[in-house]
Amino acid sequence: MASNLSFGDNLVGFVRDIYRTNEFIPLHEPTFSGNEKKYVLDTIESTFVSSVGKYVDDFERRIEAYTGCGKAVATVNGSAALHVALHMAGVRAGDLVLTQALTFVATCNAIFHMGANPVFIDVSKVSLGLCPIAMEAWLDENAFLKDNGECFYKDGKQRIKAVVPMHTFGHPVQMDELLAVCLKWNITVIEDAAESLGSLYKGKHTGTLGKFGAVSFNGNKIITAGGGGMALCKDVNVGMHAKHVTTTAKAPHPYEFYHDEPGFNYRMPNLNAALGCAQMEALPAFLQQKRGLAGMYKEFFAGTEYRFVSEPSYGHSNYWLNAIMCPDQEARNNLLELTNSKGVMTRPVWALMTKLPMFKNAMSDELSVSKLFEEHLINLPSTPVN
Ligand SMILES: *Cc1c(COP(=O)(O)O)cnc(C)c1O
Repeated sequence: MASNLSFGDNLVGFVRDIYRTNEFIPLHEPTFSGNEKKYVLDTIESTFVSSVGKYVDDFERRIEAYTGCGKAVATVNGSAALHVALHMAGVRAGDLVLTQALTFVATCNAIFHMGANPVFIDVSKVSLGLCPIAMEAWLDENAFLKDNGECFYKDGKQRIKAVVPMHTFGHPVQMDELLAVCLKWNITVIEDAAESLGSLYKGKHTGTLGKFGAVSFNGNKIITAGGGGMALCKDVNVGMHAKHVTTTAKAPHPYEFYHDEPGFNYRMPNLNAALGCAQMEALPAFLQQKRGLAGMYKEFFAGTEYRFVSEPSYGHSNYWLNAIMCPDQEARNNLLELTNSKGVMTRPVWALMTKLPMFKNAMSDELSVSKLFEEHLINLPSTPVN
């Protein structure tokens, strides 16, 4: 029966069976079936809808308990969380910050807005995130340690201050190896964990292994606050300071207005935090449903020439976005065309950062694995279903 249907038609049918609908199927949409309305209504009735309120504190405490980070600082979005983390890490204008070319642009925008310059390192075939071997190779060739212990580019002028690995689609980066390279080269680690809430590296929550992490609660992420993010800080005191700079950095006083440093005013409104708190309660169920969905896709693609992207053996992925590797670029293009024309949304991976106008002059390595993913990868509908 299936013999006169194309592989793409079979995939469309399979996805429609999973979501039990003939309507358009998006890549990812939020699910609200718990206390969302109740908590959001509560903020309106209390008038505490803005940047002060009990849900902001509650949301931060919930994320701290869930991830095990020292201090979580709520922000307006994940991009802002990254910006604050880079600021707190001491990144300065003119510094180099290593990151991956295969990422969402927000990772690099944060580096750009520090006045720093990204260096694009290849990703690992295993994790789809920053490759520690590629990073070490680039440093061995291009960096040296000054007498004061700081890492510099070979020109002796540009400091290499930090690295931002990103846990792509929720799959954890090889953190032990990465941290070892960073220790050797005195480089601060800021994990972009925007896609990986609920993902573990060897039992530890992603975003808590480096000095800082950043999570996002944008509408398409595993849980949403409408918009929002948090900077995860390993050190509690640094976290308190980070909280201070996300406000207007006003010195505590009942009525005097005195600000002791430049603040970002990146605070998350209580209205959004209320939604986030309710979503935190649903997170364990979402994770289970996403794992189930990934299992179904894996089975569907087994024995075909399309390879389902599974979590690395050392980690536990949240399977935020399911992905497959197509046999070649033509197969990828055909599958994208067919599924999207039939109302099942699929998407290629982001264009490599080196192709974007603002980063076209940035340094990079060969990026051979990144290019492979760019040419072959497709993301599949990943909204949790029960
Ligand atoms: C979503 C995302 C962010 C930040 O997202 P916001 O939309 O600013 O909350 C940062 N990095 C990556 C990799 C992301 O996917």
